[in-house]
This record gives sequence, structure tokens and C-alpha cells, in this order.
Amino acid sequence: MEALERLREILETSSRIVFFTGAGVSTESGIPDFRSVDGLYNQKYDYPPETILSHSFFVSNTAEFYRFYRDKMIYPDAKPNPAHLVMAALEKEGKSLGVITQNIDGLHQAAGSKHVYELHGSILRNYCQKCGKFHPLEKIKESAGIPRCDCGGIIKPDVVLYEETLNDETVSNAVRAIREADTMIVCGTSLSVYPASGLIRYFRGENLVLINLSATSYDAEADLIVHEKVGEVLKRVYNRTVVI
Ligand code: ZN
Repeated sequence: MEALERLREILETSSRIVFFTGAGVSTESGIPDFRSVDGLYNQKYDYPPETILSHSFFVSNTAEFYRFYRDKMIYPDAKPNPAHLVMAALEKEGKSLGVITQNIDGLHQAAGSKHVYELHGSILRNYCQKCGKFHPLEKIKESAGIPRCDCGGIIKPDVVLYEETLNDETVSNAVRAIREADTMIVCGTSLSVYPASGLIRYFRGENLVLINLSATSYDAEADLIVHEKVGEVLKRVYNRTVVI
């Protein structure tokens, strides 16, 4: 049976789908994967992105962190693509338990998803390290240099940096959703990045589906593999009308 036909059948027969999404889902909304090395930032930055986006770098080189962050991590004009919209529609129909995501752009919520487990946090939430006050993304965008709270404290994005641990509650909610799922659809990630590889082990359901442009480390264990763009695949297999 053709892969997309099989995926359509899986969507029809599943009642507890869980999605797991990575950078590949956001790139279809025009948000580049910061890990993809281009010549551009090699000329503009003295450190690799993994160094700049680490906790110790944030503490010791806060201004340089924010120069990279504003330039490479914030895409306020990005809109949800068909992948986000189909996932939200399936949740609304009661067929999906929600989305576990490694993305920090808030596009799943923008598409209408209610149950979103953001493993790496969100650029939309920012907190003063001194008084704890919440600040919206605009505060980061519109300030220059190091963004500061009215109290003088330095504002930090609620994004999990390298060297930092994931939020326990988010991880346990994600694990619970994976355990309850009858179908797990992994989208736009090669599954090589922590913690994806660990979380997928909790899945005990019927169908493990991988949708990713390139091969992943779990291809051998998947029930169905589609090496195409996530948005295009989901748009083609989703039978109902989605406002896109
Ligand atoms: Zn403050």
C-alpha cells in the first residue's frame, strides 16, 4: 500500500494520536534551524550556536547572547503552516492527545492546539531573574543590548539553554501522553537530539510514524516512514477542510 494511503488509514482509525515535532516543522514556516551551519553566522559570530545558546555563555556574555538570539531565534512574523493546522484540527476533533515539541516558537498554539508540551520552552515567555516579573517577546525585541526589568534585573527567555535541565512537569506530561497514545507521529526531527530519543521509548501503541525529509535513527523501528515535507504530507492525507 502506498505510504500516504496507509497514513490516511492510520489517522482514520486512531483515536489517541500524539505528535512529536522538531525543527523541520518550523522550517516550513520560514524559521531556519539554528543548527544548520551557514556561512552567514560564521562571519558574524565568534562562537558556534551551541556555545552561544548555553547557560554559562548567557551568564558570562549576556549582550553577545542577545545579539545572536534577536538575530537567529526570533521570527515574530512566522505563521503556522499546514502541519501545525492539521495537528490542531485533529485535537479539536478529539483524535489527538496533543503535541510534544522541541520548537520554541509558539506556532502550535497559534494554530489552535491546546495541549502543547514545550520541552525546550518558548520565546514568548520571558522572566526577570531578580523579581520574576513576566515580560512579553516585544520587550526582548524592542530593547537593545541586555534587556532589563523595571527593577533592574536581567530578563531571561523561558527557553531551555544547553547545560540546563528540562522542566520536570513538562517531561512527565509528555511521557504520560506518549504512554496513552495509540499512534505516535514524529515530525521534522532526525531524533538524534536529546530528549527525543529517550521519550520515544515510552511509546507502547500500535503505530509509530516518522515524517522527516532525511533518514532518522529510528527508521528501522517505525511502522511507517515518509521522507517528505511534514506540512505537505499532512495536508494531503487529512481529508477534511482545514482553513489554511
Ligand atoms: Zn524585575
